[in-house]
Amino acid sequence: MVKISDVRRQGDVIEEAGRILREGGLVAFPTETVYGLGANGLDGEACAAIYEAKGRPADNPLILHVANRRMVDSIAEEVTPIAEKLMAVFTPGPITLVLKKKEHVPDSITGGLHTVGIRMPDNDIARAMIRAAGVPIAAPSANTSGRPSPTTAEAVDNDIDGRVPLILDGGPCQFGVESTIVDCTGEKAVILRPGAVTMEMLEEVLGEVELDPALVGEDTVPKAPGMKYRHYAPKAPLTVLEGEPCNMAKAFRDEVGRLHGEYKQVGVIASEEVISFLEGLVPEELLVPYGQQGNLPAIAANIYEALRSFDERDVDCLLAEGTGKEELGLAIMNRLHKASGFRSIRV
Ligand code: AMP
Ligand code: MG
Repeated sequence: MVKISDVRRQGDVIEEAGRILREGGLVAFPTETVYGLGANGLDGEACAAIYEAKGRPADNPLILHVANRRMVDSIAEEVTPIAEKLMAVFTPGPITLVLKKKEHVPDSITGGLHTVGIRMPDNDIARAMIRAAGVPIAAPSANTSGRPSPTTAEAVDNDIDGRVPLILDGGPCQFGVESTIVDCTGEKAVILRPGAVTMEMLEEVLGEVELDPALVGEDTVPKAPGMKYRHYAPKAPLTVLEGEPCNMAKAFRDEVGRLHGEYKQVGVIASEEVISFLEGLVPEELLVPYGQQGNLPAIAANIYEALRSFDERDVDCLLAEGTGKEELGLAIMNRLHKASGFRSIRV
């Protein structure tokens, strides 16, 4: 693990990362969303090592990360008008555009799909590393498959230590939830995974935007194959309390009381307001605040670390406070629903 505090002055480390990638090796690196586990995206064999290190199902495609427009054109068969509009406003940034792939992009990294997810990260370390490698970098989140995504280098180290020769430590990630995936191949833009670029932001640019039916609870297979798997899960079973913010504190107190009645140790991830209401009822080390109620950027940035913080604690179950579904809340609730296996209580 190497701490990168100045990309320019630590050019030798970035060059080393580029060399490892070009030679078919793995490098874990920070982005503005979560940490990624990268390999040469045009080398099927190098990418096989990503699937191996994460234990990732083979039909779950990888996003290709690029440093500039030239790299986009080198892997996309066609950049559609929708994609052009989105790139003009949100790139570089936390958005992944699904486009028809060029022939030479290996089928093994797209899960056999004829499309490829393309993202240009807005993180100096990530972009310098991709430039140094000189090829698009395939990178899923750098966690063991099924676990919460890592938003710190330490979390990467916990999950995949020993399986990557180099982890670049860029400190905690800015957004904390993964990129928004937008299918740009059709007449209308379709959100396949909500993320840091919100539906409201996309609508402002495109007018109309659709949500993949699988995201609104309909019983269909999601178009982003990864979204069908259990994901982001902490070790203890999680239940999400969702509903009116003003009802939360009492709902938590009732549910904690009920679980204590079953002699269960309960861990709580919630707003500072709810946490302060539970002091005295739940031991302090089992209360993890994720930000102030309604502060969606703070909640997004803290949610995965909050889930991971219970890995080593002795709890039978976890309760988490849900948010609204507007703006960043759509991405936060999507991750909480998946982390909980859709176990939730309406309050
Ligand atoms: P991760 O990088 O771990 O956040 O996972 C990448 C996500 O992007 C998964 O949910 C994939 O299913 C999705 N994805 C990658 N490529 C494509 C594609 N060509 N079409 C649709 N979804 C994709
Ligand atoms: Mg992931």
